[in-house]
Amino acid sequence: MAKIFDVVVIGAGPGGYIAAIRAAQLGLQVACVDEWSTKDGKPAPGGTCTNVGCIPSKALLQSSENYEHAAHAFADHGIQVKGLSVDLAQMLRRKDRVVRQNNDGILYLFKKNKVTFFHGRGSFTGSDAGGYGIKVSGASEDMLAAKHVIVATGSDPRALPGAAFDNDLILDNDGALAVPEVPKRLGVIGAGVIGLEMGSVWRRLGAEVIVLEALPVFLGAADEQVAREALKVFTKQGLAIHMGVQVGKVTARKNVTVEYVDSAGAAQTLVVDRLIVSIGRVPRTEGLNAAAAGLKVDERGFVVVDGDCRTNLPNVWAIGDVVRGPMLAHKAEEEGVAVAERITGRHGHVDFNTVPWVIYTSPEIAWVGRTEQQLKAEGMNYRAGSFPFMANGRARALGDTTGFVKFLADRDTDRILGVHIIGPMASELIAEAVVAMEFGAAAEDIALICHAHPSLSEAMKEAALAVDNRTLNL
Ligand SMILES: Cc1cc2nc3c(=O)[nH]c(=O)nc-3n(C[C@H](O)[C@H](O)[C@H](O)COP(=O)(O)OP(=O)(O)OC[C@H]3O[C@@H](n4cnc5c(N)ncnc54)[C@H](O)[C@@H]3O)c2cc1C
Repeated sequence: MAKIFDVVVIGAGPGGYIAAIRAAQLGLQVACVDEWSTKDGKPAPGGTCTNVGCIPSKALLQSSENYEHAAHAFADHGIQVKGLSVDLAQMLRRKDRVVRQNNDGILYLFKKNKVTFFHGRGSFTGSDAGGYGIKVSGASEDMLAAKHVIVATGSDPRALPGAAFDNDLILDNDGALAVPEVPKRLGVIGAGVIGLEMGSVWRRLGAEVIVLEALPVFLGAADEQVAREALKVFTKQGLAIHMGVQVGKVTARKNVTVEYVDSAGAAQTLVVDRLIVSIGRVPRTEGLNAAAAGLKVDERGFVVVDGDCRTNLPNVWAIGDVVRGPMLAHKAEEEGVAVAERITGRHGHVDFNTVPWVIYTSPEIAWVGRTEQQLKAEGMNYRAGSFPFMANGRARALGDTTGFVKFLADRDTDRILGVHIIGPMASELIAEAVVAMEFGAAAEDIALICHAHPSLSEAMKEAALAVDNRTLNL
């Protein structure tokens, strides 16, 4: 006999678990099914983000940055450190503890919000007038039935053709977060967000890191001025970044040999101890039995949805990495909330124009809205204003003056079109720009707001002032 719910959510990543909580808050009977397990078989809700993505990467980025500060920055503050060393096993244990706290936090939230959690794989069995049948298999074995289904099954790392992940020598994001010893030479294929973050972790811990990227342009999605600054800084830090390469054969024996053609057309060979492959992610629909249910999936494997996350099947919704749009945890969460609202007849709202992007390297990079090159291509009439952290008192006191804030505003209306930051705490500073853009603010609105002194946020105000050529501290 099937257990009956109003909504079954398949997947408890940031999209699924947030959708489940919101739907339950709105008074629905909700089940959430997720198959991720800890090494000892316990449920590990939170998806890629919690288990092998956002959270563990930020834990290691913080640990490795602390080490780098102790090794290179403390002396300038008059702090002498003797006998400094890395206890990698402890660093990895701490990262695992942070992940576990997040897994447990989600299980607690499910209980608190009366979401029934099933640990196992969810797959469609069929549908009738009442809704859909979902079979749970694995750790739990159950049959569920619900009027609404939310597919939130996320994504998997994309492998290089002919170089399957073994997570010993050829690493996906999971392997890259669990290398048992600091490699002497580490190769990274793909200079995107994940490649740069993981490359930074292992470089800080002592690895020589070589990054190979197929595209000719570095960080093509970022504002060109920010990307140029980032390339300069990362190269100075010691990341060897080669753009415009064509990766050929990859051979993994005791170490990894990568044959490639460089941007000048010359054949090259790179030998590294381990290789991280971070060339994008593919939507995960395997195991859903989507075909049997008639769920439409496009040629790249994404579940096809409309602007409201409706699939081709009535009352079946899909959100997060498994559908179009940026593969970001906060985008998945926003879609989860919006779908829960829509199921209960309310209005759900997700604005892709104000989704912030962050790269947690040092300096951090964050942006929202359009880049200067996009505005040029669109023929927009705009004004730009920048302010360097070098001229910000708090940044000087922190000892971190790299980078700048850049505002782009409509020339006629002064409405903010994009904000781009490279520098300390960019991930936190960008929130002000997101709020401003959500409220349709002008650059002058930010320029007129009182910002605490001394704070990095004053660079936001100054960059907004710079749009009208009236910075105060430059
Ligand atoms: C190294 C790394 C760092 C990242 N850092 C960031 C960051 O800093 N900020 C950011 O915004 N994004 C980051 N991301 C991206 C982010 O992790 C994803 O965008 C986000 O996890 C997508 O959420 P989701 O809910 O759609 O899917 P997922 O998090 O992938 O969750 C899907 C869940 O569904 C489960 N599942 C799949 N199929 C089934 C099934 N049939 N039955 C039961 N369960 C199933 C999976 O086990 C999984 O738990 C990072 C990604 C990586 C790899």
